[in-house]
Amino acid sequence: AAKAVGDTHRRHTADLDDSADEQARLGAELRTALDTGQFRMVYQPIVELPCGRLRAVEALVRWDHPERGLISPDRFIPAAEHNGLIIELGEWILRTACTQAVEWQADWGPRAPQRISVNVSARQLAQPGFTAVVARALADTGLPVGKLTVEVTETAVFGGGQAVQTLNELHELGVRIALDDFGTGHSSLGLLQTVPVDVLKVDKSFVDNITMAGRHAVIATALIRVSEGLGLTAVAEGVETAEQAEELHRLGYQLAQGYHFGKPEAEPDFAAYAVREPAS
Ligand code: C2E
Ligand code: CA
Ligand code: CA
Ligand code: CA
Repeated sequence: AAKAVGDTHRRHTADLDDSADEQARLGAELRTALDTGQFRMVYQPIVELPCGRLRAVEALVRWDHPERGLISPDRFIPAAEHNGLIIELGEWILRTACTQAVEWQADWGPRAPQRISVNVSARQLAQPGFTAVVARALADTGLPVGKLTVEVTETAVFGGGQAVQTLNELHELGVRIALDDFGTGHSSLGLLQTVPVDVLKVDKSFVDNITMAGRHAVIATALIRVSEGLGLTAVAEGVETAEQAEELHRLGYQLAQGYHFGKPEAEPDFAAYAVREPAS
């Protein structure tokens, strides 16, 4: 037993070293990646329950690294936060997503997603001029303000600086505010009193075992009630099966996102979601 613990400990420490090393290496390459256009956006549908009709879309970033291939944002966003390049990368993400949404509107009219969600990290939100950055991106791309949703986590809200004030300014401007990974933080419900929220994105962890009557189902039910009571929109995240979708619909969820309805896709593959008939 002692040996197993030792091994586990050593492996764990090695992982940490690797990941710290990797962070440093990736961080050092971010500048070049930005300058040479190695980032791509992918888009995942947010659909109506139960029909699966495309309603909105979440923009997610990918790093198409020349030697390492596609790198997940979970690996490089922390590095970009750490060295500050998230500010520049975040502005590129915002502008690219807004431009894409305007293009869909022109190409597909009523079949285009009605809204686009963009993830905003702690450092971006803490930045004093962030509202102006968003306003400029909207003005330059021509995206109507009501079509943009920014997704923030509890960590970002409590990340310091002007975060809460910025959210108030954005909301005032007409941008919708979504609380991401809702229910996983330390004070998710408390946030509803401090932040002008429009959308609750109910975390995948509550959706995962929702079909087995137990804690997850109870929490998912409580969260939809909170959302309804406060007049917010709820989106269930990480829906992977038809059974989960059915159960969520039964509980009162009207919007969902997850592999069952569509994985994140780059343009032009994303177009398939707009032209296909809703899943029945
Ligand atoms: P998130 O904002 O919670 O995004 C949802 C993540 O869950 C995405 O991973 C998405 O691909 C994945 N996902 C969606 N449906 C399913 C499903 O049914 N099953 C499973 N297993 N996964 C599903 P992704 O794209 O790797 O992004 C990971 C995280 O990285 C995001 O979590 C977000 O926190 C961050 N991120 C991604 N794009 C951006 C960005 O443009 N800016 C910032 N600041 N952060 C980003
Ligand atoms: Ca998100
Ligand atoms: Ca999420
Ligand atoms: Ca997440």
